Order: sequence, then C-alpha cells, then structure tokens
Amino acid sequence: MLSGKPLAAAIRALRTELAGGPRADLGREVRELQELLAERELRSFAAARDPAEQEMLSALPDAAALVGKDGTVRVANAAFDTLAANARATGQTPLEVTRSAELAEAVRRALEGTPRRLEIALQRRTYLVHLAPLLRGEVLLLMRDVTEAKRAEATRRDFVANASHELRTPISAIRAAAETLADGAIEDAAAARSFVDIIGRQAERLTRLTQDLLDLSRIESRQWKLEAGPVELRALAQQVLELVAPTAREKSLELVQAVPVEAVVRGDARALEQVLVNLVDNALRYTAAGLVAVRAERDGSEWILAVEDTGTGIERHHLPRIFERFYRIDPGRSREQGGTGLGLAIVKHLVQAMGGEVGVESGEGGSRFWVRLTAA
Ligand code: ADP
Repeated sequence: MLSGKPLAAAIRALRTELAGGPRADLGREVRELQELLAERELRSFAAARDPAEQEMLSALPDAAALVGKDGTVRVANAAFDTLAANARATGQTPLEVTRSAELAEAVRRALEGTPRRLEIALQRRTYLVHLAPLLRGEVLLLMRDVTEAKRAEATRRDFVANASHELRTPISAIRAAAETLADGAIEDAAAARSFVDIIGRQAERLTRLTQDLLDLSRIESRQWKLEAGPVELRALAQQVLELVAPTAREKSLELVQAVPVEAVVRGDARALEQVLVNLVDNALRYTAAGLVAVRAERDGSEWILAVEDTGTGIERHHLPRIFERFYRIDPGRSREQGGTGLGLAIVKHLVQAMGGEVGVESGEGGSRFWVRLTAA
C-alpha cells in the first residue's frame, strides 16, 4: 500500500513542473503506481473488445449485441450496427439505437435478470427480439428480421382462405342441385336434366380448380421438373391456336400467328404450352370482337413471345396485381366464363422457373401479354 507521503510529494512536484518548474522526480512507488494504472486501463480496454466475443456475435445470423451493466452496447455485430443511425451501435443505449421505448424497457428488465421475447416494429420492418441475461450481469440482445417470414405467412393464409372459398362455391351448387333432385325434381325429366347439367358444370369447375391448385403447388415445391431443352415457338403457337380455333370461330374472332421459324427458346415444352394456352385462353375470353394474335420477336439473346388481343383491356391500376393468385378484375364474370383466377399466376411461376420474365401492357384497345425467354 502506498503511503500518503510519497504521493503528496509527487503531486507537489508535478504541479511545480506544470507551472514551469524543473521536471518532477516522481519516485519509485509513484512510477510503479503509474505503470499499474496503465496496465489496468489496457486490460479493461481489451475486455471491452474481446475478439472472441466479437467473432461469436459476427457468426450469428441475426443482429446481435452485448449490453453492459451500464445499459450501453458493449459489443455489436455488423447487422446490429446497421440499425444505428450512425452505423455504430457501440457505446449507445438500445433506446438510442432503435428508438423503441418498448425494447429499452425490456432491456432494463433483462439487466435485472428477466429474460424476454418480444416482437417490435422498426423502420417498417418487424423484428423478433430475444433478451437473455448473462451470468456476468450483461444482456445478450438478439434481433431477428421476420418481415419476409410474416409476409409469406400472411400470403399463405390468404391463399388458403381464397382457395377454400373458391372450392366451396361449386360444392354448394352441387349439393343444392342433388338435394333438389332428391326432393322430387328427379321425377320431372326436364327439371332433372337441368339439375344434372348444373352438377356436371360445377364438377368440371372443381376439376379445373383442383388441377390449377395442384399445378401451382407442384411448380412451387419444384416437383414439376422443368427441362431447358430447345422449344420451337412457331410449332407451339400453331398447335395452341388449332386447339382454340373452334372457340374463335364461335365468337367470330380472327386468329393471327406471326412467329418466325427461327424462334427457338430454352425452356420446357410442356410448361411453355401451358403458358401459351393460358394466355390465349384469356385473350379469347376477354375479347368480344376483333383478333387474337401470337407473335414472337427477337431481342438480343432473347425471344419475346407475345399474345395480343383487341379485347376489354385492363385498367392501369390493376396491372401490378394481375399475376397474383385469385386476383380478378371482375370475379363474377371470370367465374361465369370458367376462370379459376389462377391462370396468370401459373404463367408467371412457370416462366420464372424457366429463368424468364413475364409482363403485360394494356389499354382501351386491348392487351398484350409477353414472355421473355433465352434464345436456344
Ligand atoms: P381467370 O381465370 O379469372 O381468367 P387469370 O389469372 O387467368 O384468371 O386472370 C386474372 C384476371 O386478369 C382475369 O380475371 C381478368 O380480369 C384479367 N385478364 C387476364 N387476361 C386478360 C385479357 N387478355 N384481357 C383482359 N383482362 C384479362
């Protein structure tokens, strides 16, 4: 233990030196004290930046920080730093970094020893926060960005609700028709005929719906293995247009095929056929007069396959959502015409699975749906 005397003498000598006097001789004990203090400073500095702690936090997939007993962030990983306005969280309190009073309160409780899990919203993102009190009185703060996961969950929920609703409609119609038949309509040949027709039509609709739902889920879960072989667009267009020729004749619509022979793309023949069938089918359904054309043009290393119609067109504000599942401009009309609301969603998924891109331009004069794929 250093006695008071050499310390008082050293202080006096230092004051004299600083006031312009001779260099102070501090004496052995005071010099030793100085060295020890420096050593302690160095150690606490090293503890504050323990490379092992830093390495561990950096290896975590979430934003992570250690909050010291004084309530400020002692160590943080890069993801946590990006949450701070100045991109450096160390030395700031969690409140200063996140501006979330809720989180600040939870950290305070965690510093007192209470672990917590909570969800907070920050800058339009949602974080799942874990607060774990550590033995040495600090708190490990983990923040997982769950924005995308929550969005996907909401989309899935919507999808299940929509699909159930779509399935329920034809099922109810079938049940009602069957009950009416059972209640006596079966005895009246004409009435029986019409109810059997209803059952047949609704069963067909159910088949289409379940087929589309199955297709979508097979594409999404990648069970539908797509090939990347060469596909000749002209032959494909010809084949699809022949398929719809009777419908076009019935509606007095002209069918135009303008695909050059050299239009060959990398893709899956069956998937591309489905894409083109869905697009041409829609074009025919939403066009009362005029024509439906399938064209292809080259753009650098790609081909653009387009289906054009002179139909109702689509108002601008619908365009960004038109490829979403079950999104329809006029649900009643779509159902009436046998639509499932899934055709364009299937088109988009298939084209993306082939590494391509889809799009639409539409106005009063009609619509143009296009698919962009790599040339083979
Ligand atoms: P649907 O089975 O209802 O046709 P789709 O996914 O194929 O489902 O299309 C979604 C919606 O996009 C349709 O309900 C319709 O409102 C609109 N649509 C699609 N193609 C056309 C088109 N060629 N012209 C006008 N509207 C279209």
